[in-house]
Amino acid sequence: MNVTSAILITIAILFCTNLIGYIYTALILHTNLINDYRIQPKEYFARRFYKRFPLILFNLSILLSVGAVGVYLFYDILDFSTPTLGLFLFQLILIFLIDDLYFYFYHAALHTKFLYKHIHKTHHRSTMPIPMEYIFTHPLEWFFGAIGPFIGLAVIALFFPQINIYAFWTMSALRNLHELDIHSGIKSSKIVSAIPFYGTTEHHDLHHSKNRGNYASTFTIWDKIFRTEIID
Ligand SMILES: [Zn+2]
Ligand SMILES: [Zn+2]
Repeated sequence: MNVTSAILITIAILFCTNLIGYIYTALILHTNLINDYRIQPKEYFARRFYKRFPLILFNLSILLSVGAVGVYLFYDILDFSTPTLGLFLFQLILIFLIDDLYFYFYHAALHTKFLYKHIHKTHHRSTMPIPMEYIFTHPLEWFFGAIGPFIGLAVIALFFPQINIYAFWTMSALRNLHELDIHSGIKSSKIVSAIPFYGTTEHHDLHHSKNRGNYASTFTIWDKIFRTEIID
């Protein structure tokens, strides 16, 4: 596969997952189909969300640009062949773990006084987030968060000659869908909650309502190890 096709598929994956996120958000704002399952029962005003929409779209353009430039820069070490299931799962989990550990320290740093006041406060204007507000952040915060998967690729490249593109694409899609889920404000299903160390919606929703603790995203293991977990 040539570099242009790889970039276009990456952009398509990122765009489509965000389109799903917008549809999910619109269902919450404009219908009552899933409102019975909300964690926080307060009313949400659509007008407030659409005021935030320009920044959300701007950050989406940053996300697509980082994805395109990242695939361009890492193209030479990307493997486009069909992987074995073992290699696929191993690299998928590794990219997730490295990105998530990076995100944990990054997010905890964003809660220090200076960075919170000047950068992270924007994201915390949502005390009761809805899906697309996962990307409602200061653009600088968004940029340094969006490079996480590529930090994962850079670390893996130290140990592996190549990284399978399907592991990377799957991670990119799941990462976005998970971010949409934990900002949805909709209660997690019992199946998802049963996955060990899985970062549930309740875990991150509590971070938004309390403004402290629960800095991890995909895996709660980091909050347990570094003793920053809050449960109520
Ligand atoms: Zn935060
Ligand atoms: Zn958040």
